[in-house]
Amino acid sequence: MIAARPSYSRVLLGRLNPGDDLLESLTALCLKEGVSLGLLEAIGAVRQARIGYYDQQKQRYCHRIFDVPLEIAGLHGNVSLKDGEPFVHAHVTFSDREGAVLGGHLASGTIVFACEFVLHCLEGADLERHYDGETGLYLWRGKEFPR
Ligand code: ZN
Repeated sequence: MIAARPSYSRVLLGRLNPGDDLLESLTALCLKEGVSLGLLEAIGAVRQARIGYYDQQKQRYCHRIFDVPLEIAGLHGNVSLKDGEPFVHAHVTFSDREGAVLGGHLASGTIVFACEFVLHCLEGADLERHYDGETGLYLWRGKEFPR
């Protein structure tokens, strides 16, 4: 178990433009606004989705592209530093015309049709992503959980 104790500093509310790459534009926003720690949520729709599934045995992501219009039923994620830069880690649930859902790890290549987001900016915690040999993932480390 690990725990950090950040505080809320401010909230950014906005929308993305049609044609934006969902993950890249959220990352660019964090860079522009100097957000190094935060929580993200969003709803909207995409023209195309690209999502990842982490193969735990092979320790790598497999990606799938869904080249159809989909609703963003929910996006939840966080922002923290990786290699000194803001890094967005988000998972997303999409729904289709029939209401069927699919989801996974948001990857670049997901193209916005319309998207409203809320970015809760945090401060006061020492958190940064570092490579973890057991999982093959870049996981949080900080003062309160050095390994
Ligand atoms: Zn993920």
